Amino acid sequence: MKRRLGFSTRAVHGDPEGRPDWAPVVAPLYQSATFTNPIGSAQEVIYARYGNNPNHVAIAKRLALLEGAEAALFVGSGMGAIALSHLAVLRPGDHLLSSEWIYGGVYRLFAQEFGRFGIEVSFVNPLEPRTWKRGLKKNTRAIFVETPTNPLLRVLDLEPIATLCKTEGLALLVDATFATPLNYRPLEHGADVVIHSATKYLNGHSDVLAGAVAGSESVIEEVRKLLHVWGQALDPMAAWLIDRGMKTLAVRVARQNETALAVAEWCAKQSQFATVHYPGLPSHADHDVAKRILNGFGGMLGVELKGGARAAERFLRALTIAAHAPSLGGVETLVSEPRLTSHAMLTPDARARAGIPDGFLRFSIGLEDSDDIIADFAQALAQL
Ligand SMILES: *Cc1c(COP(=O)(O)O)cnc(C)c1O
Repeated sequence: MKRRLGFSTRAVHGDPEGRPDWAPVVAPLYQSATFTNPIGSAQEVIYARYGNNPNHVAIAKRLALLEGAEAALFVGSGMGAIALSHLAVLRPGDHLLSSEWIYGGVYRLFAQEFGRFGIEVSFVNPLEPRTWKRGLKKNTRAIFVETPTNPLLRVLDLEPIATLCKTEGLALLVDATFATPLNYRPLEHGADVVIHSATKYLNGHSDVLAGAVAGSESVIEEVRKLLHVWGQALDPMAAWLIDRGMKTLAVRVARQNETALAVAEWCAKQSQFATVHYPGLPSHADHDVAKRILNGFGGMLGVELKGGARAAERFLRALTIAAHAPSLGGVETLVSEPRLTSHAMLTPDARARAGIPDGFLRFSIGLEDSDDIIADFAQALAQL
């Protein structure tokens, strides 16, 4: 029997194959929209929109190995991956039960677009026990959750939700962008489909827009059929960059786990922060769940400055290392304010009730030295 390879080895090599002499160590970029095909052949042609050029195939295989999935597919964006994977499992007349703690773009897709296709969506608080069961309807076909959540980094235990899905015959789709397959693999906890914004950790360098879906052969085949006609194709160059990015996924995320914990622990000791949100801190609401189910606490961190929006603005102006930018999962530390980005559509009161008062800052910790990030925070706090 073949020895099972470790996560880092799979991230670099996938399933290593024999190398012929004089082969390039790095897979070449096939920057070609189309490929020759044998005359008279009825086989599917290779065409970049189909997600089947050699660069696409290589990263899909690798992600499937990392997630423990039968198959995977990369598309042009995380939103594209979410849209296609839901269209693959839902039909007109179906009901989708979704967590309300999800990416803003996904919320708008569900709330504003799915109705046009006769797909009904309702939202529930994923943190209340029995919320899922109560939210079920006769026509419920699927449940969607995101974990860890943005920006409070709540960690959902998927097993009870997955058990409900099994007994009710529902599909469970999980956006695990924040987790990465190093820290949490939803398919091992009963999910049917795992979705990533590959723009974030999978690529890891803030220079590519992409999405990915992993699951059974049959569900990925459905998503692929939709990709053919809806057209959220990934450019071959982007696939090549993701190939490079995924080789360092394990080291990047391991280091980001470590640095984020160090920064979170330091922040927790500073009187100017009212609260620090990090699943690795014992003070976090889901610390016990996180310890039990995650392999790492992640690179995302939320802090709440006591001085509200004004303090946040001053703090941001004083920072010299973190770039003030949306998005996450890159090598550079990024910081954003949910009140102006992901949660801008809520009133200040509604945000405060949701646990995101003004003064809340979300950090995506990069690969800088933790001492430097902490020193930068310290000098910025001193200027408040
Ligand atoms: C960024 C993000 C998305 C959307 O991904 P894009 O690649 O920007 O389309 C979806 N879900 C989560 C959790 C994200 O962070």
